[in-house]
Amino acid sequence: SIPAAVTSGLAAAARFGALIKGGAALEQLRQVKHLAFDKTGTLTEGKPEVTAVEPFSGSEADVLSLAAAIEQGSSHPLATAIMNRAKTSGITVHEAEDVVVMPGTGVKGVVNGRSVQVTSPKAMTESLQQRDLAERISTLESLGNTVVVVLADQQVQGLIALADTLRNDAAEAVQRLKAMGISSTMLTGDNRRAAAAIAGQLGIDYRAELLPEDKVNAIRELQANGNGAVAMVGDGINDAPALKSAELGIAMGRGSDVALETADAALTHERLPELAGMISLSQKTARIVR
Ligand code: ADP
Ligand code: MG
Repeated sequence: SIPAAVTSGLAAAARFGALIKGGAALEQLRQVKHLAFDKTGTLTEGKPEVTAVEPFSGSEADVLSLAAAIEQGSSHPLATAIMNRAKTSGITVHEAEDVVVMPGTGVKGVVNGRSVQVTSPKAMTESLQQRDLAERISTLESLGNTVVVVLADQQVQGLIALADTLRNDAAEAVQRLKAMGISSTMLTGDNRRAAAAIAGQLGIDYRAELLPEDKVNAIRELQANGNGAVAMVGDGINDAPALKSAELGIAMGRGSDVALETADAALTHERLPELAGMISLSQKTARIVR
């Protein structure tokens, strides 16, 4: 049977917005020495906005319309931002067929008989040499943007730049963890320049341009280097494998269903400082049980 101190610990945690799925998770939490954070939707608000649309062929509206059509099939924060921009610009968004989400890289589908793709520059198979694409992308990224490339029938139609803001409690969360002797690293699928901008504001290490399986490898490396357990906090489908491979997976409350199901705990109120709260609670509970 579960000791009373554990059940009351779990209930107390749930009240401050930390859902811990049972005694085993509480015990793992106590061992945590390192936190791995996803970026988009976890350390940042996850509500990016379109900051620029650069058409290569056709108009801005054409690029947005194609992108929005296939992003209807994705629940990614970038997808929401692109659809919002299309809506506020009064652009007609067509139906898309055969939409396939590629976690950590983008989406593809068929719009009006054309094969359309919205993808991270890194995942592009087409040449970045064409029409000084690489240069335009790095200029936008240097300004802290995430850039996605819109292609139709393998031809680059244009670029969409998006930017997101750091959560206002992210720095406090990192500080409280640090005071408890717990270090933090950011793991992101986003580009190096945007990653550096966010991690720099928090003073933490980061790894960028990671595919979902690269996040798993990053967790393994942290586990190999550290002297304690690693907890991973994330919100996306792309984070699910890493949430599973960490000793403890923690999902954001408004995260994807896959993340919430895979995780051992969740921040239901999405208040990052509660990470320190739940770890210190697990330590107190352990003292009572012993
Ligand atoms: P993060 O690790 O920061 O949460 P993701 O792994 O979800 O980021 O995404 C990594 C990159 O893949 C994004 O920066 C973007 O370039 C691309 N990407 C992922 N999903 C989409 C999408 N639905 N539409 C466009 N690009 C996407
Ligand atoms: Mg995310």
